[in-house]
Amino acid sequence: MEEIKTHSRIVVKKFGGTSVGSVERIEKVAERIYQDVQKGQRPILVASAMSGETNRLVSMAHQVDPRYRGEAYDMLLASGEQVSISLLAIALEKRGLKAAPLLAYQLGINTDSLHSQARILNINSEKLLGLVNNQMIPIVAGFQGVDSSNKITTLGRGGSDTTAVALAASIQADSCEIYTDVPAVFTADPRLIPKAKEIPTLNYDEMMEMASLGSKVLHFRCVELAAKYKIKIHLRSTFETREGTWILPEEKNMENPVVSAVTHEPLTAVIKLFPVPKGTKFIADLFSKLSENNVVIDIITQSYNEEGQRLAFSLPMSELEVAKDVLEKNYGGELGVSVLQDKAKISIIGVGMRNYSGVAYRFFKVLSDNGIDVELVTTSDIKVSAIVDKAHLQLAATSLHTEFGLDATN
Ligand code: ADP
Ligand code: ASP
Ligand code: MG
Repeated sequence: MEEIKTHSRIVVKKFGGTSVGSVERIEKVAERIYQDVQKGQRPILVASAMSGETNRLVSMAHQVDPRYRGEAYDMLLASGEQVSISLLAIALEKRGLKAAPLLAYQLGINTDSLHSQARILNINSEKLLGLVNNQMIPIVAGFQGVDSSNKITTLGRGGSDTTAVALAASIQADSCEIYTDVPAVFTADPRLIPKAKEIPTLNYDEMMEMASLGSKVLHFRCVELAAKYKIKIHLRSTFETREGTWILPEEKNMENPVVSAVTHEPLTAVIKLFPVPKGTKFIADLFSKLSENNVVIDIITQSYNEEGQRLAFSLPMSELEVAKDVLEKNYGGELGVSVLQDKAKISIIGVGMRNYSGVAYRFFKVLSDNGIDVELVTTSDIKVSAIVDKAHLQLAATSLHTEFGLDATN
């Protein structure tokens, strides 16, 4: 019984880049943790690199070789978290607490070997709980793991959220706190749409769509894991004490808005191929070559008429150079290729869409009233997405936000 009682006070808390973005902020986080411990909580902490640090590391790697994708890249990027967890440990020790900063290999966060996109396979939760039971505060480096040959891996940009939820799952916690620089999940990125509103509760499906469609407030894999292990996520501000957004299982009979959020992805490119060899064999071959080179493809469209077969797909701008290389190397002059840069993806998301018709009509009416053309479109039962010119992104997002009744009233 005693064990269970103690367990219930263990809380996994993850602090993002801005929250540990300076020595002063790290001191503030340490102060908050100190107060939590005084109230009887037994925290397990996860920290991201100090804000801007991972980008700085990426850009240095880029300067050396923009096409490099091997293990040294993960080793480089993982170094940012080593700094923040050490500083946080020093700040906690200064307050008389006992801290245990842990890199992934020290704790045992085992992943597969897919560098830059590794998936967590297993976590040494006994070690974690052992530390907590010895009155220590574990401070785990987010975003990183170690593969079966002891190589450092990383979980994809924004992956510290996933580390936190995976730790919570490994100790069978029922929730996980994600502290960040916004007080809640909003109906759109408040940086793009100042009229965005806070959302008190969201279900896993909606948050997963938002995360996969560009809302970087939570890492996609973290929401996926939370849904799998039924862990509630509480996303809240590092700088305020009030509650933020709870991400929970969907409740039956809940009255959901038709659209809960508008999300965007600003750095998108489109590749159009015409003519391509008839049939699906060529398409399968092309996508297999792109995937062998770890190029992630997003929306795909294909059409065929008497002039021949057309294929178009969108992809993140960061993948464009590698994708162009793959096309050049494998198909040389065989294909007509046009590359469109400076595109963005705009999406509307809501489980309420399942019960309403006319959502796609309203989506396209808003775009057409504003003279905005689309390159590619995709839909599911809870989302509609389109690729537009980046120059039209703000207008498209703002108008859709208003159309679906999401604007804050004050
Ligand atoms: P952290 O470093 O704490 O992980 P991130 O920068 O990864 O923080 O995520 C927080 C940011 O996500 C916010 O500053 C905000 O600009 C952005 N964001 C995008 N979409 C949303 C949304 N729908 N609600 C809240 N924030 C959003
Ligand atoms: N530091 C990593 C990044 O910037 C991981 C994270 O912030 O979650 O992507
Ligand atoms: Mg983040």
